[in-house]
Amino acid sequence: MIHRLAHLWKYADKLFGLLPRLKAVRDRRRDPPIPASALNATLLMGAILRLPSLLDIAGKTQRHGWQKLIGHRPISHDTLGYALEHGCPEDWRELLVSVNRQLKVNKRFEDAKIGGYLVAAVDANEQFKSRSRCCAGCCQRQVKLRNPLGLEYEVTEYYHRQVYAQISGPDFSAVLDLEAMRPGEEEAAAALRLLGRMRRMYGVRFLDGITVDAWYTKGPFLRAVDKLGWGVVSVLKDERYEIYQEASVLQKQQPVERWRHAGRAIEVREVKDLPFTVAALGSVRVVLADEVWRETTLVGGRRMLEDKTSHWRWLVTGRFAPAPKKAIWEMGHRRWGIENHTFNELTQAYHLEHCPRHEAVANEVWLLIRVLGFLIFELFANLYCKTVRQGDQTLKDLRDELFLDLGNWQELVPLWSG
Ligand SMILES: [Zn+2]
Repeated sequence: MIHRLAHLWKYADKLFGLLPRLKAVRDRRRDPPIPASALNATLLMGAILRLPSLLDIAGKTQRHGWQKLIGHRPISHDTLGYALEHGCPEDWRELLVSVNRQLKVNKRFEDAKIGGYLVAAVDANEQFKSRSRCCAGCCQRQVKLRNPLGLEYEVTEYYHRQVYAQISGPDFSAVLDLEAMRPGEEEAAAALRLLGRMRRMYGVRFLDGITVDAWYTKGPFLRAVDKLGWGVVSVLKDERYEIYQEASVLQKQQPVERWRHAGRAIEVREVKDLPFTVAALGSVRVVLADEVWRETTLVGGRRMLEDKTSHWRWLVTGRFAPAPKKAIWEMGHRRWGIENHTFNELTQAYHLEHCPRHEAVANEVWLLIRVLGFLIFELFANLYCKTVRQGDQTLKDLRDELFLDLGNWQELVPLWSG
C-alpha cells in the first residue's frame, strides 16, 4: 500500500518547495512555547484534510502520526485560535502566491488558458452573517423581519464577505488571492484593492485579464483594471446603458458564428468600437450570444420537450480586443467555474462559512490557509493520484485514506528534521 499522506507532503514539497516556504511563515506571538512551524503545519494539514473546526484539528493532534509529522505534542484548540489571531496574513499570502507562481513556471496553468489567454474569475462570497456578534471588520446592513403579530421591524445584520480571484482549469482550481470587504465599502472597491495587490505580487504578465459579473460593469472599475494592464470580460446587463441598446441594434448587421456545445446551438455576433460611459477607456467591444436547447420537463406526469433560450452580452476591454468571439464566449461562461466548483468545494468540503475566531486577522489567516489546503489537495488528487484521475476513487475516499494513514505512523517522517 502506498502511504498517501507521506506522499502528499513529498509531492507538495517537490512540486513547489512547500516545506521551506511553510517554515518561513511567521507569527506575532511573544515568547511562544510552541514553534510557529508546528502550529502552521497543523493548521494547514487541518485544511488539507478538510477538518471543519479548530476543535476537530486539536483533536487530531492527539494522533501519534500527526505529532510525528509536526514534531510536537498535542495542541489545544485555544492555542490554535491564539495562533490564528497572532498570525501573519502577509506571510501566508506570500506562500500562496509563491505556490501559484511556481505552478505557472511549471506550466501547470496552460490547460486553463482560453484561446491562449490566462483569465481569472473575480467574484465575491459571503462567508457568514450574524445578528449579535460584531468585530472591527464586520460589514453591516439593515434587514427587515416580522414579529409573530406580523409587524415589520428592522435589525442590524453583521456579515463578512470576501472577493476572490481564481483560475479554474480542467484539473484543478487555484485561488490567487482574496480580500475582505471593509465596513461601508462596495464590492468593486475590495476587488480593486485585491487586483492592485495581485499586480504587485504576481506581476502584470502572470495574467491576461479577468472575468466578472454585471455588478462590476461600471466605468471606473473597468478603467482601473485597464490601467493595471489587464483585460476584462464583464457581463453587460443594464439596459439603461446606451451601449447595451446600441449593441442590440448594430449586431443585426454583423456576421454570425455558429457552433454546438453540450446540446446547445450557439450563435455569436460582435460589435466593435463602441463608446462606453468612461471616455478614457476608449472604445470597447460587445460580444452577444444566443443559446438554444431543449430540456425534458414533466407536465402532468408526462415527459415533454421544452425549448429553452438564453441571451448573453459581454463587454470586452483592453488586452482581449484581438481575442476571437468564441474565446470571449468561453471566458464569459468560465466564470461559472468560480461559483460551481471553487465555492461549492470550499463551502462544502472546506467549511468556508465557518469562522473559528471572529476577529479580522484570525479570519483572514484562516481563509488563506483554507484556500491553500484546497489547492494542495486538488493538485495532489487530480494530478498525482491515478485512482482519482481514473475515477476509481472519489475526493472524499482519498481524504479518508489520508486520515487512515495517520495511523501508519511508523512510515511517516517529520516534516522538518532538526
Ligand atoms: Zn466581524
